[in-house]
Amino acid sequence: MDAARLPVTSVDVAVVGSGIVGLGVAYAAVRRGLSVAVVDRADRPGGASVRNFGHLCIGAQIGPARRYADRSRDLWLSLGAAAGFEVRRCGTIVAARHEDEMAVLTAAAADGGIDLLDHREVLTAAPVAPDRVIGGARILPDLQVDPRTATRQIAEHLTRRGVEFHRRTAAVAVRPGVLTTTRGEIHAGTIVVCVNHDLDHLLPEVAEDIGLLRCALDMLRVRADLRRPLTAPLLTGWSMLRYGRFAQQPLIAAVRARLHTDRPDLAAVDVNQMYTQFPDGSLIVGDTHERAVDVDPFRAEAASRLLLAATEDLFGIPAPTVVERWTGVYASGPQPFVDREPQPGVIVLGVATGIGMTTGLGLAEERIGRVHGDLGVRDMSIPRSTRGAQ
Ligand SMILES: Cc1cc2nc3c(=O)[nH]c(=O)nc-3n(C[C@H](O)[C@H](O)[C@H](O)COP(=O)(O)OP(=O)(O)OC[C@H]3O[C@@H](n4cnc5c(N)ncnc54)[C@H](O)[C@@H]3O)c2cc1C
Repeated sequence: MDAARLPVTSVDVAVVGSGIVGLGVAYAAVRRGLSVAVVDRADRPGGASVRNFGHLCIGAQIGPARRYADRSRDLWLSLGAAAGFEVRRCGTIVAARHEDEMAVLTAAAADGGIDLLDHREVLTAAPVAPDRVIGGARILPDLQVDPRTATRQIAEHLTRRGVEFHRRTAAVAVRPGVLTTTRGEIHAGTIVVCVNHDLDHLLPEVAEDIGLLRCALDMLRVRADLRRPLTAPLLTGWSMLRYGRFAQQPLIAAVRARLHTDRPDLAAVDVNQMYTQFPDGSLIVGDTHERAVDVDPFRAEAASRLLLAATEDLFGIPAPTVVERWTGVYASGPQPFVDREPQPGVIVLGVATGIGMTTGLGLAEERIGRVHGDLGVRDMSIPRSTRGAQ
């Protein structure tokens, strides 16, 4: 047989895309004893699911995002244990640099799950410059993973559980029961398309109907001379403008107005000043946001310089050494979640804002549960597939 062709394959569930949403669908399906095939056009994980901070920002979500995030939390913990990667139960530190930011944190903390921190406690948790913060908070349920290893190890774990992965295999067309790829057809009762921002390449009518754009983010990994390790992901007032739990507070208007007046340069690149530290001690620095149908391949260095200067100022350190730069891209739409069934048995699933690591596993679990039966999140066992490739 031609090695470039797939064997004739028939499965219960075919998944397009092996980012965190596609992996979540595969995990949900295999836990229900279903046979699963995943195709990805890339040779290895390279999409948004490896380009992010690895910050699972659960306690700052509201509404459906919080429901998916809570489900994801259980699933991340169970996957970490089963697949052998670390899921840190560290919470998130939010550094407040102004009284108006402290007021927003105080209002948000009233609902529980967020502990306020005084000046000394923030300095103990995060190596920020003492004269740059006045207090802060810890978001208790939050987790941290290394996205570069976690996605790879989840895929390896699912392979051991019988999921077929077909890499360097692009989906080119989809119709009920049949997924056409560059290597042949896969027959499946349920086909789940999890291609993030590239939905317009495969199902343009769905992408346009939803109003999906691409959001490009400038990211850096740096070596920085921090006073001590960062014990958890670190957010700032800029982050409060984005995450629902803080952004819904009436007092946030004062934070937004002040930040935009004081730092129009950071506001112009739509900054979310935040940090996570990798196991090797390097610091992930982010990020900027630019929305368009297509991402401009030529990135202005000025945005990275702003992020680095903001980092020097917050931590009170000399200029960090940049180790890596990259552009991350995620789908951006008017609604945070994409869940469409354009044809019977063809499901389009995704996260159209920057919280897919936090919510993607829960979204996938809930959606597959609606088609193939709810298991309850506590049942994390994975039966072996009974029906594989034929
Ligand atoms: C810089 C950055 C920072 C972020 N930080 C965070 C964070 O800290 N916390 C958080 O919760 N979220 C964060 N996010 C958002 C989160 O990373 C994304 O929402 C999530 O990873 C999206 O997962 P996905 O599976 O939909 O997409 P992806 O991971 O992009 O996977 C899509 C896959 O589909 C494949 N594909 C596309 N088209 C085809 C085709 N036709 N055929 C076959 N395969 C195809 C691609 O090769 C890719 O592997 C961040 C995103 C970015 C970019």
